[in-house]
Amino acid sequence: MTRAFDIAVVGGGIVGLAVARGLAGRGLGVAILDEGDVARRASRGNFALVWVQSKGLGMARYGAWTTGSAALWPGFAAALRAETGQDVSLAQPGGYSLCLSEEELDRRRAAMMRMHNQPGWEPIPWEVQDHDRIARAMPGLGRDVVGGVFCPLDGHVNSLRLFRALHASALARGATYLPDHPVRDIAPLPGGGFRITTAQGEIEAGRIVLAAGLGNAALAPMVGLTAPVRPQRGQVLVTERTAPFLPHPVATLRQTDEGSVMIGDSKEENPVDEAVGPGVLAAMARRAARMFPVLGGLNIVRSWGALRVMSRDGFPVYDESETAPGAFLVTCHSGVTLAAAHSEVLAPMIAGGGLEDSVAAFSARRFDVPSAA
Ligand SMILES: Cc1cc2nc3c(=O)[nH]c(=O)nc-3n(C[C@H](O)[C@H](O)[C@H](O)COP(=O)(O)OP(=O)(O)OC[C@H]3O[C@@H](n4cnc5c(N)ncnc54)[C@H](O)[C@@H]3O)c2cc1C
Repeated sequence: MTRAFDIAVVGGGIVGLAVARGLAGRGLGVAILDEGDVARRASRGNFALVWVQSKGLGMARYGAWTTGSAALWPGFAAALRAETGQDVSLAQPGGYSLCLSEEELDRRRAAMMRMHNQPGWEPIPWEVQDHDRIARAMPGLGRDVVGGVFCPLDGHVNSLRLFRALHASALARGATYLPDHPVRDIAPLPGGGFRITTAQGEIEAGRIVLAAGLGNAALAPMVGLTAPVRPQRGQVLVTERTAPFLPHPVATLRQTDEGSVMIGDSKEENPVDEAVGPGVLAAMARRAARMFPVLGGLNIVRSWGALRVMSRDGFPVYDESETAPGAFLVTCHSGVTLAAAHSEVLAPMIAGGGLEDSVAAFSARRFDVPSAA
C-alpha cells in the first residue's frame, strides 16, 4: 500500500531535519526520506560555527538572513534542549578572523568595508583589532598574528549534537523518519501532489521539500526547479583534549566544549572525493600553530574531509516550483548557522503555503540573468 503524507522532506541532513522540525507539530503529516547512515553528508563533517562576520559580500540580503538566524539561535538551542534533552553547547562570545601578515589584514579589512558599503546592507558590529588587543582577549595568541577582525555576533555549537537534537526534535514533534529511502523519481500528479519513487517503493505527498544537499542537483529538475550546487571539499583536523585556552572561536580554529581543538577548514574545488591530503593538513596545522603556539605541542587525533554543498554564488537557494505547485527547494552552504532560520522562519512559510517576499532574493532565478553584453 502506498503511504501518504502531507509533506515529504527529501534529505535527512541538517537542512532537511531543520525544515522537517519546523513543519512538524503544525497538524501536518511530515515524512523525512533519507538515504540512511551510509550517506555522505556535510552535516557530519562541518566546522560547527554559527558565523556572521563574513556572510553577505555580493548579497546584502544574505547578511541580514544570517544575522537574523544567529539572533534566533539562543531560543532555538533552548527549545531543542527542552524537546530532546540535548544540549548543543551553543556559545556566542564573538569570534575572530586572525591575520598573519599586514597584507592579509588589509585584504580582510577591505572585504569587510566592501560588504558594509553594499546597497541595502543592514549594519552589524565589527572592528579591526591589533595584536595587543586580541592578546588581551586570548592570552595564548602567537606573535605572528598581526591583527584580526572581531564580530561580537559570532559563535559555535557542538554540531554532531545539533544533528542528533534536530533528528530527535523532528520525531518528537511527530515527523516520520524513513531511512534507506533514496528518492529515485518524483512525478507531479494531475490533481496536485506528488508520487515519489524510492528504493523502498512509492510514497505520495501533497507537498515536497527538496533538502537533499548535493542530491538536489538531480532531483530539482523532476519538479521544474534547478539546484546549481557543486561539491567543495573542506578538511578538518582535531587535536587531543586540552585545558580551556581559547575563549572565542576563530574562523579557522575553535576549542570544542569537550576540550579538543578543531582546525580547518580548507576550500578545495573539483574534489574527486572526501579524502584528506597531507599537504593541505600540514599547511592548516602550521598556520594554526603560528596563531596559538600551544597547538604545536598537542597530538592530532583525527582528521577528515567533507563536501560542502556550494551554490554557484555561494548563497542559499530557496525556491518554489512554478510548474509543479507544492514543490520547494532548500539548500545552502551554512546549514549550521542557518538551522534556526530554516526551522523557525522558512519552514513556517512552507507550511503556510508559499515562500514570502523576504526570501525572494534566494530564488535560483537570480542565475538566469544573462551575462553582461
Ligand atoms: C568542512 C565543512 C565545514 C563546514 N563548516 C560549517 C560551519 O562552520 N558553519 C556552518 O553553518 N556550516 C558549515 N558547513 C556547511 C554545513 O555543514 C552544510 O551547510 C550542511 O551540512 C548542509 O546540510 P544538508 O542537509 O543540505 O546536506 P547534507 O548534510 O549533505 O545532507 C544531505 C542529505 O540528503 C540525503 N540525500 C541525498 N540525495 C538523496 C536522495 N536522492 N534521496 C533521499 N535522500 C537523499 C543524503 O543522504 C543526506 O542525508 C561546513 C561544511 C563542510 C563540508
